[in-house]
Amino acid sequence: MTNDYSLNPRNFTTVRASPYSCGLAGVKTYPLFINGEFVAPEAPATLDVLDPATAEVIARVPDASAADVDRAVKAARTAFDEGPWKDATAQDRGRILLKLANIVRDRAAELAELETRNTGKPIVEAEFDITDVATCFEYYGGMATKIHGDVIPVPDNAMSLALREPIGVAGQIIPWNYPLLMASWKLAPAICAGCTTVLKPAEQTPLTVLELATSFHDCGLPPGVVNIVTGRGETAGAAIVEHPGVDKIAFTGSVEVGKTIMRNAANTLKKISLELGGKSPNIFFADADFAPAVEGALFGIFFNQGEVCSAGSRILVQRPIYKKFVDAMVEKARAITVGPPMDRNTKMGALVSREQFDRVREYQEIGKQEAKVAFGGGRATSIPGAGVLDKGFFVEPTIFYDVDNHSRIAREEIFGPVACVIPFDSEEDALRIANDTYYGLAAAVWTRDIFRAMRVVKNLRAGIVWVNHMQPTYVEAPWGGYKQSGIGRELGKWGVEEYLNVKQVYINLSEQPIGWY
Ligand code: NAP
Ligand code: MG
Repeated sequence: MTNDYSLNPRNFTTVRASPYSCGLAGVKTYPLFINGEFVAPEAPATLDVLDPATAEVIARVPDASAADVDRAVKAARTAFDEGPWKDATAQDRGRILLKLANIVRDRAAELAELETRNTGKPIVEAEFDITDVATCFEYYGGMATKIHGDVIPVPDNAMSLALREPIGVAGQIIPWNYPLLMASWKLAPAICAGCTTVLKPAEQTPLTVLELATSFHDCGLPPGVVNIVTGRGETAGAAIVEHPGVDKIAFTGSVEVGKTIMRNAANTLKKISLELGGKSPNIFFADADFAPAVEGALFGIFFNQGEVCSAGSRILVQRPIYKKFVDAMVEKARAITVGPPMDRNTKMGALVSREQFDRVREYQEIGKQEAKVAFGGGRATSIPGAGVLDKGFFVEPTIFYDVDNHSRIAREEIFGPVACVIPFDSEEDALRIANDTYYGLAAAVWTRDIFRAMRVVKNLRAGIVWVNHMQPTYVEAPWGGYKQSGIGRELGKWGVEEYLNVKQVYINLSEQPIGWY
């Protein structure tokens, strides 16, 4: 197979519609995006990109090497150190982000379809993702002109300032569950702060951010500010983390890789932010409004096929309603249509890859040994009305009950549609079970008792807590974990802090000698 690299963004755009509409012979190989241009990698190695609903190859991307990363970092370094980005004003940066938000809205249908083709998530959910992408660029577009420092009163005839400056070149490494949204959570605050970036999408899902790059020129983004390098974590990702020209690493993914990144970034003492996994408790007290609670339990774990870092994978239910609750969950789970991701009636699509499918299938089998099955537990092939699913990576929404919080399915992040229902007696009991985990990303509590709700909120060791809901996420509000779920916060005013340095400036106002000697 010869690789047809488009070296010019204009040629590239003509290819936009084709990668997933043609057969294998016509499969498009995407280039890298470095210094404002689509360029071929140093070596011809590529990675196959699949449609997980059919397991067919829909595109190829470069398997970038350390040399490609070096080229991207140099472009980012030059744009930051020498300009023109260095001289761009806050207003310039804000306007670029606002234009990018508008372009995402104009291209929403195309980007949502491509996201669905590449991730297997339902098209209706992908449309929400793309809307959130635009909102994220818009929010940080507005924030660019609001970043400012402080004047500090010091006990001398002097003025003390704290300036807030962009940290420099950011290396950004993202996962496959929300490809373009995770890219926007990283690109938007970096551009807002005045940083330049080298971003590596997950090897499984590189397409939407590469497509978005075709619009960078149109929104006024100068060359070198955003560079996109596709490839594997162990090679391209590691090269970004180790590169001495990179000042900061922002990572979203697994705890295991997060630890590796922290170790590898230590050699050059980079600032790091890590948004890692979770095993988040979704806690239901007996007085909770029953119907919304049952739906909230399912939504918390089955949304996006359960491939959500904040998934409410441990469902803690108080004993008086326990049996009724499990039965109601099962009844409602029957209505979850597992189906072709492009079908607007589909409520659950395919898992992202064969690897993830195998992993979830394995946990389904482990769960059968460790707990009782209330619903599902296997591959989804024969769900009535769903059509033929046997080629893709579809699994059944799965509910285990009578789960012991010390079992593997309750301790390990599955990252799939597998719910663990755990009974509890008292409030103390619920909190003990909820906090008995190495993770601390998110949690939710359902009750009509305001005193109890607030006590539980206060005692949960998690970075995000919902009351009588689970999963709503807003660009305005901070996102990140306690414990081994991460370091730092994304989104809101907190997100941009990760891309800023503080410079202390002392200005002597006295013209007299110090008089020390
Ligand atoms: P991952 O292995 O942690 O990968 C996340 C990103 O890091 C990918 O771009 C990956 O590259 C890259 N990477 C891997 N090793 C690296 C290294 N040594 N240095 C630098 N970068 C490296 O996550 P995943 O493969 O996407 O999924 C595995 C598990 O991670 C999931 O099952 C789930 O438990 C967790 N996860 C969590 C989140 C979250 O939002 N918290 C999201 C996705 C996954 P590749 O593309 O080569 O993998
Ligand atoms: Mg991986």
